[in-house]
Amino acid sequence: MSDTGTWLAALARDLGPAGLWRPGIEADDAQLQPHLQDWRRRYEGRALAIARPVDTAQVAHIVRACAAQGVPIVPQGGNTSLVGGSVPDDSGQQLVLNLQRLRQVRHLDAANLSLTAEAGCTLHEVQQAADSAGLLFPLSLASQGTCTLGGNLASNAGGTQVLRYGTARELCLGLEVVTAHGEIWSGLSGLRKDNTGYDLRDLFIGSEGTLGIITAATMRLYPRPRGQATALVGCGSAAEAVTLLQLARQELDAGLTAFEAMAALPLQLVQRHHPEVAAVLAALTESSARGLPAWVVLIENVSSESSGHAHTRLHALLEQALAQGLIHTTALASNQTQQRAMWQLREAIPLSERAEGLMVKHDIGLPASAIPAFVSTCEQEIAARWRDARIVCFGHLGDGNLHYNVQPPADASSGTALIRFEREVNDIVFDLVAHFGGTLSAEHGIGVLRRDELARRKPPVALHMMRAIKRALDPSGLMNPGRVLS
Ligand code: FAD
Repeated sequence: MSDTGTWLAALARDLGPAGLWRPGIEADDAQLQPHLQDWRRRYEGRALAIARPVDTAQVAHIVRACAAQGVPIVPQGGNTSLVGGSVPDDSGQQLVLNLQRLRQVRHLDAANLSLTAEAGCTLHEVQQAADSAGLLFPLSLASQGTCTLGGNLASNAGGTQVLRYGTARELCLGLEVVTAHGEIWSGLSGLRKDNTGYDLRDLFIGSEGTLGIITAATMRLYPRPRGQATALVGCGSAAEAVTLLQLARQELDAGLTAFEAMAALPLQLVQRHHPEVAAVLAALTESSARGLPAWVVLIENVSSESSGHAHTRLHALLEQALAQGLIHTTALASNQTQQRAMWQLREAIPLSERAEGLMVKHDIGLPASAIPAFVSTCEQEIAARWRDARIVCFGHLGDGNLHYNVQPPADASSGTALIRFEREVNDIVFDLVAHFGGTLSAEHGIGVLRRDELARRKPPVALHMMRAIKRALDPSGLMNPGRVLS
């Protein structure tokens, strides 16, 4: 047996049954495949093995074993990354460290409004744990049945409730981390205030597995709102949607939890691929002879008093917006089934895009005030260059976060033409993002997909500091190499 074979066999023994999957030994191709290919099916690699620890001590043991052998580690949670961050490269030399078996909710402290859970709990499991105690864990993503708490923190996930509750970073109070040296840092504090030097927690959040392995986290909980109201409204332009956002902030204040915008084309894709979900749009189109509005916005308002109160305030906002000509059609959900249907429409967009075919995707952030000018300028530049490219634009408008995806015309949909198309579209989109003071990744992170763009566009001083942090915490460069930084 080779040296590699020997230490892997020892690791397999140490981790116990199902703790290590070596290709062709404990696992066949079908078992390995979901861990080797990303959700978008853009990246596919090979792994030396897939480690499946059950607790923090096993994670530390794996990291120490890999450090001793100089084996790079790719941390993996639910593998829903949209930037190719959680699958190995094609060298067959990287070890995937999958955290999905670290699955305990360790502690819920209702009086402190906090919960401590292990990295492999799915986001849905964390939400359920809070819910069983009558509390709310507000992080919410369409991938919540699969993505994990560790992955959410490693990628500083955003989602649909950021407007009111913040990103994963803002929801996190403390972390437990296995460092690149295999030491365990127990920083699982439930404190709201702790000014004792550099913020280590914030270094690991959003580091995409390049600095260490998150094994558990203490997260903020909130009182569950007593009432919730949801509406879909039709706007004639992005400018109207942004003015509506301003009005909604003013009128609903902290009650405004979601402001999701969807242009007509993504909604048409839902109508085509998930017509059962798109039925909720009928309420908007029936009152308008012109079909789908240019933009549909999903607005959610919560209340600490009652659903009736949330409903009344949202209704008043819609009346005001209609009077000001900011919206032209409205549908206010009158029960939870209708509310759910509105959210299903929003959540069906990524799935409908996937069914429609290849898109060049962008997850950009802009000051809300710059969004109308960005949308119209970018559309003009893309149309001037490719008559038949189609723009699928939707996103968390309340956070200035747009998913700005472009479907190539038929003659640029494969091979070198597609590569050229992607490069040129990226240049147009990211140049305009920079012009309007935005960011090239609002919530999906950098991974492999945006690594070179980051190197090109981030100020040299910032890159220099990032590299210094990487060298200090992972001097051998074994933690998720090639992601975020080259
Ligand atoms: P993975 O995909 O497994 O990993 C993500 C990154 O974190 C990788 O770099 C990986 O190496 C690293 N990592 C994973 N676990 C750990 C750990 N324990 N310690 C250290 N590093 C780790 N994202 C949003 O922000 N907002 C959205 O609204 C949103 N919607 C989505 C909708 C769909 C349908 C899909 C498929 C994805 C969506 N995403 C969204 C992206 C993705 O779901 C999130 O980034 C999620 O937080 C990733 O969690 P995961 O457990 O799947 O992590």
